[in-house]
Amino acid sequence: MLSIAHGPTGALIASKIPNPYISIPLIIISHFIEDRIPHWDVGQGLTSKKKRRQTAFLQELFFDFPLSILIVYLFFQIGRPFDWRPWMGWFFSLVPDFLEFPYLFLNHRGFLIRKFAAFHTWSHRSTPNKFWGLLPQVLVLLLILLLK
Ligand SMILES: [Zn+2]
Repeated sequence: MLSIAHGPTGALIASKIPNPYISIPLIIISHFIEDRIPHWDVGQGLTSKKKRRQTAFLQELFFDFPLSILIVYLFFQIGRPFDWRPWMGWFFSLVPDFLEFPYLFLNHRGFLIRKFAAFHTWSHRSTPNKFWGLLPQVLVLLLILLLK
């Protein structure tokens, strides 16, 4: 999914479960579960899988990423004293995407990075249909609003 879904999911888990030894693994697992739900992200039409992942990453960096910070702020911080937990949750929810950076852009092909990238790509279910691909992400955000 997009960071606008992953980030607030991580923020929700971290703010509900104070123990980071429990919340951090759950947040990382939540990333892969959300990626399994067919969703829309940028780069669907590109033929090369790597190009597609690169485009998705750049879109994430300049659009999705700042928007996810704004949503976490609006959902978890506005009118409240600063709390580090939602931000910690936001960060760890995006770690699986951060870990792809060396693979996609630096041509780093270490064994673990390669295995991880293969697993992440395998776990990803995308749809080119914007409506059906964005709907589950909007539903995730509504659910977070209800549960927060
Ligand atoms: Zn992902």
